[in-house]
Amino acid sequence: MRRAVFLDRDGVINANLERDGRPVAPTTLAQFRLLPGVDDAVRRLKERGYLVIVITNQPDVANGLTERATVEAMHDMVRARLLIDDIKTCFHNDAARCDCRKPKPGLILAAAAEHGIDLARSYVVGDRWRDVAAGRAAGCFSIFIDYSYQQDGPNFPDMVVKSLPEAAAIILSREEDVAASGHPASR
Ligand SMILES: [Mg+2]
Repeated sequence: MRRAVFLDRDGVINANLERDGRPVAPTTLAQFRLLPGVDDAVRRLKERGYLVIVITNQPDVANGLTERATVEAMHDMVRARLLIDDIKTCFHNDAARCDCRKPKPGLILAAAAEHGIDLARSYVVGDRWRDVAAGRAAGCFSIFIDYSYQQDGPNFPDMVVKSLPEAAAIILSREEDVAASGHPASR
């Protein structure tokens, strides 16, 4: 069984845009910008043996704001630039009542089944309550990147950070603590 770090996309590996004061996903490839230090953070996690898998809600497709092909082109760019193992995408909105849209854990569970992932030894990193809730539902350690968004809902992360590089450093340091003590991680 492999360990994994599941990464939300917008606000974690690429910058959010702002619309009416709210964080939103980029809608064109030209707007898509990786955040500083993300490539190095992913590489360090990979070097330590983690699978790195993106799990992302893209409701703009169902809502008619973005073409599915545009999202796929963004993900081709992510695969070209970052050493990630997989990208699992939900293209639905709430009205679809699907099983994959976070806060449901469907994307995580699908990736775990496909890649043989031990979820209890895995992490979720996200910047919205939906990411934290999906991570908790899947039994992962959930790390919240806090941008102080005004409208975010209830949130009970295991840890709060300011960026993916900070989250990666914490994941790797937790592992060193385990190795030093000779005991499994206590949560
Ligand atoms: Mg996000």
